[in-house]
Amino acid sequence: MELFEKIYDIIGDDSFNAFITLRPKEEVLKEAKELLERGIEPKPITVKDNIATKGIRTTAGSKILQAYVPVFDATTVRKLKEKGYVIIGKTNMDEFGMGTTGENSAYGPAKNPLDTSKVTGGSSSGAGAAARGYCLPGIGSDTGGSIRAPAAWCSVFSLKPTYGAVSRYGLIPYADSLEQISPIAPSVSQLVEIFEIISGKDPRDHTTVKKPDLKEFDVEKLRFVVPENALELVDPEVRNAFNSFIRKLKNVEYKKVKALEKALPAYYVIALAEASSNLARYDGIRYGLPEELLPEVTENFYDFIAEVRGKYFGWEVKRRIAMGATVLSAGYSEELYLRALKARKAVYEELNEIVRESVLIMPTMPVTPPSFGAKSSPKELFAMDVLTVPVNLAGLPAGNAPIADGIGIQVVAERWGEGKIVSFLRFAE
Ligand code: GLN
Repeated sequence: MELFEKIYDIIGDDSFNAFITLRPKEEVLKEAKELLERGIEPKPITVKDNIATKGIRTTAGSKILQAYVPVFDATTVRKLKEKGYVIIGKTNMDEFGMGTTGENSAYGPAKNPLDTSKVTGGSSSGAGAAARGYCLPGIGSDTGGSIRAPAAWCSVFSLKPTYGAVSRYGLIPYADSLEQISPIAPSVSQLVEIFEIISGKDPRDHTTVKKPDLKEFDVEKLRFVVPENALELVDPEVRNAFNSFIRKLKNVEYKKVKALEKALPAYYVIALAEASSNLARYDGIRYGLPEELLPEVTENFYDFIAEVRGKYFGWEVKRRIAMGATVLSAGYSEELYLRALKARKAVYEELNEIVRESVLIMPTMPVTPPSFGAKSSPKELFAMDVLTVPVNLAGLPAGNAPIADGIGIQVVAERWGEGKIVSFLRFAE
């Protein structure tokens, strides 16, 4: 119980803006006490605000869901609760997961505990801030780097699982074919414990396959491939930190990886296409906007929907819906969407081939955490995802280990090769 009291003391008024919804202390203490009485050791956890939590508001960082209270738990949340985890709060995020810095949250950006003038990384921005600033493990999601970016910039550990290892039931979707609910934590042991609980087949998500076996590997014996073109894309500070870390490894080969050039445009076409379809469900009728926030219902039903969407979606979300709808539209879809699917296949094949024998290793983010507002054009923002999105297109697992303040190293293994990643994270810890 003392632990939970202390957590609330440390969070105080949440100066890092890690939470969109922080649960009342009394409620959390009561839950923890009930667990103790049943002989279960209560443990704290944070949950990204795009993962459904029964009875706790779930906004996905958007004003359109500002009053949405799910009547069910996501499978991952249910499993964590069954093992004694108590939710401290719902963490801040870029609206619907769309962003790399956390600045697209409709609830204000989270601040980086390492330096509060800097961003945390996104879209799981609050999960990164809470892991670093409050020492709390959490679950977030990763569609194109969203658990790895904040882990790298806030200097904590994270793991984006193999596609199909963790249930997406109850995850508010951004791009279904790319994303996985993913753990983030200050220590590898916490990360592993959470991953072991949330992974596995779920009858409610037919894309789940199995729980990866976390076999131990001797890191000294693993073969590593460094994409030499990745190192050309990163800032000197990141390159230097990476190069000095890599000296600790025995078996390292440098190779050009073409996938790193193809992945970014393919990712943004596919992710936005899926997003435009997923976000069509927010119409002001479903998902609990109270009447006083809604426009008058006029004769034209579509005017009502357009007004609600116009008012409550953020600017970046609207831009992405428009782009996604465009790439899918007649006359464009062959040139844009189908080409992106072909590029995805090439990325998939190249990366899967490399990781059959080796582990890919490269910096997680090409730069150290930027100051607020420093990166503002979409092109600059998208470019920072260059090293994280290839993994999602290929369905591979990837981990982040901190190697310097605001700098992370990313390891990518074969499908179901989480054991290699975890062994590496332990080695780096
Ligand atoms: N930055 C990427 C995007 O905006 C990835 C975000 C994510 O993984 N949710 O799409």
